[in-house]
Amino acid sequence: MRYLCLLLVIPLMLQWGCESGNAQTTAEKKARPEYALVIHGGAGAIKKSKMTPELEKAYRAALETALQAGETILKEGGAAQDAVIAAIQSMEENPLFNSGKGAVLTNQGKAELDASFMDGKSRNSGAVAGVRTIKSPIAAARLVMDSSKHVMMSGEGAEIFAKSYGLEMVENDYFITEKRKSQLARILEGQMASQAGMKKKYGTVGCAALDKEGNLAAGTSTGGMMNKRYGRVGDAPIIGAGTYADNASCAVSCTGHGEYFIRNVVAYDVAARMSYLEESLEKAANYIIMDKLKAINASGGLIAVDKDGNIAMPFNSSGMYRGYAKSTGERFIGIYHDEE
Ligand code: ASP
Repeated sequence: MRYLCLLLVIPLMLQWGCESGNAQTTAEKKARPEYALVIHGGAGAIKKSKMTPELEKAYRAALETALQAGETILKEGGAAQDAVIAAIQSMEENPLFNSGKGAVLTNQGKAELDASFMDGKSRNSGAVAGVRTIKSPIAAARLVMDSSKHVMMSGEGAEIFAKSYGLEMVENDYFITEKRKSQLARILEGQMASQAGMKKKYGTVGCAALDKEGNLAAGTSTGGMMNKRYGRVGDAPIIGAGTYADNASCAVSCTGHGEYFIRNVVAYDVAARMSYLEESLEKAANYIIMDKLKAINASGGLIAVDKDGNIAMPFNSSGMYRGYAKSTGERFIGIYHDEE
């Protein structure tokens, strides 16, 4: 009799299990937006007390333009990779940010740019470091991924490679603005000296996106840190430190004091915590930025989107230029902590 009961009950239990499993999958599918895009324009935002209404307006408009550039592509069913490039290029061209035009300067007064790019589907990636004449470093990073056997190329070799594929080349002066020249001059005169000798003005740009196909991609582009030593390379072009994407978990782009982000392999750590500890994106990202890095005085933040379209944007600095857009119509642009 007991066995008979069991024989009757087990199939019922299995069915309940399946039903609840299916129900969850359906709910998850419903909750997942068709697409999601998140950007940052650096975690070194000007202190709120020093921000003018005009400048704040200009930053918000620039973030909106970048969001729109990426979102238009995703809305039309385009690839996360293309959306990431479009959003980043829009910020590279805007001198407000520390990437492309408007990049910070080395101690020799030159712009030396770093960028990286990663596709979450194939986990292929590309990067350039210390380039001085490639107009769009993020385009060069993608080119290294798509058209070479390598992951990272640096300096002159990267420039020759980019030129041979027809990327637009410019003089180094193209990147240098009066504002950056006078910032460097003031640092060199000792008026803005910082502990690290490099000014903590993080205006790096980055983007992470999820497209309608469920593919993730991420990219980061920067001039590095003001008054960095000529030849210094930060976290931005290092896959796993400044950028990471994996369709199984999330896509991440970082900004902050690069040396700490390299040592703590920050972007990969978010994906690893999600995969191995089964943490949510929010929990993993917050732990790394607000606990682990904060505890060692490592200033910065990150933006990330997971495979279900959840967004995280933690930062432990006074501000981080950031924004996101989802197919659901949810939209956000912010600079300071009190805005979410
Ligand atoms: N992470 C960049 C670097 O260290 C700086 C930034 O985020 O602005 O090169």
